[in-house]
Amino acid sequence: MKLTENVHVVGGGRFGFGLSGSLDCHVYLLNGGDELALVDPGLGLKDDFSTILENIRQDGLDPKRIRKLILTHYHCDHVGAAAEAASRLDVEVVASAFAAPVIRTGDDRAVALDVARAAGFYPADFVLPPCRVDTELREGDVIRVGELALTAYETPGHCDGHLSFHFAGSDRKYLLGADLVFWGGRILLQNIHDCRIDAYASSVFKVEPLDFDALLPGHLQISLRGGHEHVEQAAKYFRQLGVPPNLM
Ligand SMILES: [Zn+2]
Repeated sequence: MKLTENVHVVGGGRFGFGLSGSLDCHVYLLNGGDELALVDPGLGLKDDFSTILENIRQDGLDPKRIRKLILTHYHCDHVGAAAEAASRLDVEVVASAFAAPVIRTGDDRAVALDVARAAGFYPADFVLPPCRVDTELREGDVIRVGELALTAYETPGHCDGHLSFHFAGSDRKYLLGADLVFWGGRILLQNIHDCRIDAYASSVFKVEPLDFDALLPGHLQISLRGGHEHVEQAAKYFRQLGVPPNLM
């Protein structure tokens, strides 16, 4: 589904547009002209990743042109399909330096899969397939997708190693925030070991000064204009020493 000249949504589950597996996050395809990048390929149950590839073709784009697989954070609804995507596409796999060793080993506990499985979020037999990571990103690193230049920001709080990306497209600027901030200034706190409210606030304050129109979250409503106001709303709660409304 084409959102803008530079961004398609090609997957997502019941907290999205129902384009692929029900537990998948929003799966974005970035179009930088001569190069494409896939962001967070979803959970990857059964043939869900094949559905995502078919969605890309139906949007008139050739999956063979995807050169990068960008992973925002290591939660399974975002990276479960990463190993399959890396094996089926000719891509450079990109993740934060913090998340990379965890993604390479598929460490259950580090990604809180053990507790998420026990809580019933994922099938009882689900394991995270280890995936290679070729490029490790740190604060301020820039990765290119054709004519797009994405600047990485370390935005922990939802979990450690979480990245957000800021970039300018042909007709607007974007914050690819993943699970940092959602519509209405909501955030996603969970009772897991690396979800931290102080880090969350710092991350929201970090992206607040950035100039962007579109907010591309990992779930729920996508804002193509006025996206900045949702970050402002979350920041306002934090500045008053409160906590923004939570998605859960
Ligand atoms: Zn997450």
